[in-house]
Amino acid sequence: MERKTAVIPPEKLAAQTEYCEKIAALWRREGRTPLAFVDTYGCQQNEADSERIRGMLRESGYAMGESEEGADVVVINTCAIREHAEQRVYGNVGALVHAKRRHPGQKIFVCGCMMGQPAAAERMKKSYRHVDGVFNPHQLWRFPELLYSVLTQKKRVFATESSDGAICEGIPVERQSSLKAWVSIMYGCNNFCSYCIVPYVRGRERSRDPEEIVREVEGLIAAGYKDITLLGQNVNSYGKDRDGLPDFADLLARLAELPGEFLLRFMTSHPKDAGKKLFDTMAKYPKIAKQLHLPFQSGNDRVLAAMNRRYDSAHYRELIAYARSVMPDLVLTSDVIVGFPGETEEEFEDTLRLIEEIRYDALFTFIFSPRKGTPAAAMDDPTPKKEKNDRFDRLVKLQDAISAERHRAYVGKTFRVLVDGRDGDLLTARTEGGRLVRFSGADGLIGSFQSVTVTDHTTWSLVGALAEQERDHE
Ligand code: SF4
Repeated sequence: MERKTAVIPPEKLAAQTEYCEKIAALWRREGRTPLAFVDTYGCQQNEADSERIRGMLRESGYAMGESEEGADVVVINTCAIREHAEQRVYGNVGALVHAKRRHPGQKIFVCGCMMGQPAAAERMKKSYRHVDGVFNPHQLWRFPELLYSVLTQKKRVFATESSDGAICEGIPVERQSSLKAWVSIMYGCNNFCSYCIVPYVRGRERSRDPEEIVREVEGLIAAGYKDITLLGQNVNSYGKDRDGLPDFADLLARLAELPGEFLLRFMTSHPKDAGKKLFDTMAKYPKIAKQLHLPFQSGNDRVLAAMNRRYDSAHYRELIAYARSVMPDLVLTSDVIVGFPGETEEEFEDTLRLIEEIRYDALFTFIFSPRKGTPAAAMDDPTPKKEKNDRFDRLVKLQDAISAERHRAYVGKTFRVLVDGRDGDLLTARTEGGRLVRFSGADGLIGSFQSVTVTDHTTWSLVGALAEQERDHE
């Protein structure tokens, strides 16, 4: 069955551009450049959304500030993945009342995944009267219109209509880095993992047109970007929502064939959709970083089924074995949830066993956080918090030892790194696998690829020196 992905018509986006011009004209009449501050919580998708919010603000005449103090507009881009992050948002939005008192004209907007949950949006409306506007991720492209309305009609605005989502091409982007860029290739998720709120707040999977993605990546390469990360909640589903689109591996190959000196990365992958074709493509192209973030979440099959992950631990092990057979230097990272409802000690030990066997370079570890409205939040959860904390500590200890061992193995080897900045006396750089390396060198090397020989390590980073032939050219 052919499904159509809704695309916001260009004339609707053009109307938003007009709102930007009207806002800029308002400020010109005031005779000053207004200041904006965008605060981002959560994942890379949110970072990418904030870059678009900044792009729209810049087009509306705003300069970017470093804090809410004195800002004419404050945008809080929220995350709904964990309760802890939500509580921080409520606390920080509440505290904005003071900044607004000191700067009465300040306008405050709250957006992002939390505002995709009707109860949270309602709470913002009722209990946070100093918030001027709320919009959910589907309404992001309408931000100029909402801001204009708040500025001119002195009324609060709430754009929280739920939808399966649409794609909006052509929103201006203000990127945070001149070297590294995010490129969203798809939005939303169809997987409904039982603990995850994302499909409810970001809607169904929508793939961008490949030609738009190629154009964006070509533009980035031409502008000097060297490290480009393709983003999606589940990039391996790219193209499956419409007939006639390439699959993710083919899209990746097409991008990797573009001329220029750059590295491509992607996240996040799902083990049920990643496979040999993807790993063969990664192995084939030098411009695709040999780095894979493949969340396993649990090493126990009963827990994986309860999570609705739709793979088992044997399949996961097979995937990793194949990926490593075609990419022996693959840097592997993953996500794991400790204390999923009903997880027993034995089931947790299956997770430890998998970690010990696979030996990840790094893990992103989380204690289960119930999200209202998801099936897992309604599951029986008899394990005491103390026991979950204890499991978490044991897991982190195991992974720390493995990370240190993996880092030790880097010593003496030479890697191609992208030099991205300076930290005190040393330059900072990232290996293809995303490992942080510090070494001595001139500022002129920032923004270039260099070869660095690793001389020492800590659990989290590597220390190195420019390889001989590079030093000669310094
Ligand atoms: S794949 Fe699962 S965990 Fe990832 S965004 Fe989709 S539902 Fe959430």
